Amino acid sequence: MRPLSESDIRRSFVNCSKGEAKRVNVPRDLEERPWDDLDFLGWRDPGAPERGYLVAERDDGGLVGVVLRAAPGTSRGFTARSMCSLCLTTHSGGGVALMTARRTGEAGRQGNTVGRYLCTELACSLYTRGKKQTAVGGDLEETLTVDEKIVRTRANLAAFIGTLSE
Ligand SMILES: [Zn+2]
Repeated sequence: MRPLSESDIRRSFVNCSKGEAKRVNVPRDLEERPWDDLDFLGWRDPGAPERGYLVAERDDGGLVGVVLRAAPGTSRGFTARSMCSLCLTTHSGGGVALMTARRTGEAGRQGNTVGRYLCTELACSLYTRGKKQTAVGGDLEETLTVDEKIVRTRANLAAFIGTLSE
């Protein structure tokens, strides 16, 4: 994806208020992010560990930022293996967390959320490209090429973002 600036990111959020978007802890190392290898920018809030954020680029170049909240207890002391719903990487020991996103518009104002199991560090793009590996290793026999996996991760991401405004 193209490199994003702090103001790009703040303007992109679709499921929080303008005030909340202003207070989001945007990563300070934006210049060092591996943009060419990212399907979306994802990060956890160092000041609020239950918070996570992702910003994706739509086909038309527009940005969609999503505020996520990790469900309590799903990312710690969790020993079973589980799979990320975006990149389909299997993790153990809290590498995957159940994250919820408020829906956009009226549904969101009424407290409606969508939940997904996601890589805790939101580094799905790097797992998709084999640039990051889990301690578990690949126990799932994957026959897809990296390009096919990228297509799959992006499709899963677009589907997730689509459910926020349904
Ligand atoms: Zn993932």
